[in-house]
Amino acid sequence: MNNPNTAEAKIEQLSKRLQQSIQSRKQLEDSFQHDYNVLAELIIKLTYACAGMDHGLDNKLVKLRGLLQRNAGMAELEQAINDTQTVIEKHTLNVQRLLKQTSEQTQETVAFLRQQSLQKAGRDRLATIENMLESPSIAVTHYIPVMLELLQLFTASAHSLADSHTKPQQNSAEVPSRQLLELLNQVDFDGATGQLIQRTKLQLNQALDQQQFIELMLQLIRQIVKTINDERQSAQSFLLELNQTLTLVQGALQNTLASRTEFHDKSGVLNQQLQADMKQLNDSVETATQLAELKAQVSDHMQSINAALQQKFSLERDERRNFERQYEKASSRIKNLERQVEQYKRQLAEQKFKSLQDPLTKLPNRAAFEERFQLEFERWTRYKEPLCIAVADIDFFKRINDSFGHVAGDKTLQVLASMLRKSVKASDFVCRYGGEEFVIIFPQTQLEQAIERLELAREKISNIPFKFKSEDIRITVSVGVAQFSQDSDTVVTVFEAADKALYEAKRRGRDQIVTA
Ligand code: GH3
Ligand code: MG
Ligand code: MG
Repeated sequence: MNNPNTAEAKIEQLSKRLQQSIQSRKQLEDSFQHDYNVLAELIIKLTYACAGMDHGLDNKLVKLRGLLQRNAGMAELEQAINDTQTVIEKHTLNVQRLLKQTSEQTQETVAFLRQQSLQKAGRDRLATIENMLESPSIAVTHYIPVMLELLQLFTASAHSLADSHTKPQQNSAEVPSRQLLELLNQVDFDGATGQLIQRTKLQLNQALDQQQFIELMLQLIRQIVKTINDERQSAQSFLLELNQTLTLVQGALQNTLASRTEFHDKSGVLNQQLQADMKQLNDSVETATQLAELKAQVSDHMQSINAALQQKFSLERDERRNFERQYEKASSRIKNLERQVEQYKRQLAEQKFKSLQDPLTKLPNRAAFEERFQLEFERWTRYKEPLCIAVADIDFFKRINDSFGHVAGDKTLQVLASMLRKSVKASDFVCRYGGEEFVIIFPQTQLEQAIERLELAREKISNIPFKFKSEDIRITVSVGVAQFSQDSDTVVTVFEAADKALYEAKRRGRDQIVTA
C-alpha cells in the first residue's frame, strides 16, 4: 500500500474528494428539480380547486397552470402570479361594492319601516335584521339581485301601507303580493330558504291583510339575509386565505430562485477555483525537482483546495436547508387551503340555485309551469275566476330538422317562442313544455278571450317569413285549448282535455285552434 503522505497519494485523495463534491452537487440539483416539480403540482391542484369562482380569475389560473406544467421560467411565473392576485383583488372589490349597495338599500328600507306603526312581533324582527346588518359585510353571492328586488318591492308595499293610513283601501297588499309571486317564481333555493319561499308562495295566494304581508316580508328578508351572511363568511375567509397563500407561494418561489441563482454563481466560482488549484498541483508535481520544494507547494495548494471545498459544502448545506424551510411553509399552507376550498365548495353546492328557465328559448321551463299551474288552479278553486290553458305544437317540425339541420331547427324554435310570447298578454304564462310544444296559462281570462289571443298568435306565426337555404318557408302551429269549469276539474283533467283538442286540430289538417 502507498504511503498516504506522498504527494501522489494526496493528489489522488483530493481528486476523489473533488469527484464526490461534483457528484453531490449534481444530486442537489436533481433534488431541487424534484422539489420544484412537487411544489408546482401543488399549485396546479390549488388552481383547480379555485376554478369557477370568477371568470377573470379562471382565465388567469388556466394561464398559471399552463406555465407550471411546462416548467416555465421564473420571470413568466412571477407575472402570472401577479396577474392572478390582481384579479382576486378586483373580484373582492367588486363584491364589496355590491354588498355596500345592498347594505345601503336595506338600511333605507329598515329606516323607513321603523317609522311605520308595526306590531310588537314586527318590531322585534326588524331589530333582528338590523343586528344582522351591523357587522361589515364582504360576500360573494348571486342572491344579491333577488335581495335588491325584494327590498324594492318591500319599500313599495310599505309606501302603499303608508298611503292607506290616509285613504283606507281594502287590498293595498294585492299588487305587491302579485309582484312578489312573479319574482318568487323566478327563483328556487334548496334547504330552509327553499321551504320558506314555497310557504310564502302559498300564503301570497291567499287573501292577506297588510299586517300579515309585512310580517311575511320580514320573515322572508330575514331568511335571505341569513343565507347571504352565511355565504359571506365562508367566502370572506376563503378569499383572504387564498390571497395570503398566493403571496406566500410567490415569496417562496422568489426566494428559492434568488438563492438558487446565488448558489449557482458561488458554486461556479468555487468550481473554477478548484480546477485551477488542481491544475497548479499537477503542474507542480510535474515540474518540481526537489522533494522539499514539492512538499511546500503541495501543502500550499492543499490548504487552498481544502478551504474551497469546505466553503462549497457549507454553501450546499445552506442552500438545501433554505429550500426545505420555504417548501415546508408553502406546502402546509396550501394543504390547509385545500381543505377550506373543499368545505367552501360543499357549502355552495348545498345552496345551489335551480334554474326554472329553458336555456334555448329563455321561456320558463316545464318545472316552472307545474308550479305555476298548481298555484293558478288553487286560485281558481278559491275565487272561481275564469282560467284557461292551451297546448301548442309546431306542425311538421321534424321536416325542418330533416331538411335544414338541427341548428336551423333550434333557431326556428327561438323565433316561434318569442313570437308566441309577444302575441299574448304579459299576464299570460307562456312556457316551453318540451321539444316543440309550448303551454300557455291564461289566468283570469274567459275562453273567448283566450281563443282570440291564440288566433292572433297563430296568424302572426304563420306569417313569419323564414328563409332556409334560399327557400321561403312558412311554419304553422296547432293548438288545443280548454277551460276550468266544473268542480270536478283538476290540473290533470283540464290539461288532458287541451292535449286531446290539440290532436283533433292536427287531425283536422293543422294550423288551427280547437276547443275541448
Ligand atoms: P306534427 O305536426 O304531427 O306535430 O309533426 P312533427 O314533425 O312536428 O312532430 P314529431 O313529434 O314527429 O316531431 C317533432 C320533432 O321535433 C322531433 C324532433 O326532432 C324535433 N325537436 C324536438 N325538440 C327539438 C329541439 O330542441 N331542437 C330541434 N332542432 N328539434 C327538436
Ligand atoms: Mg310534438
Ligand atoms: Mg309537431
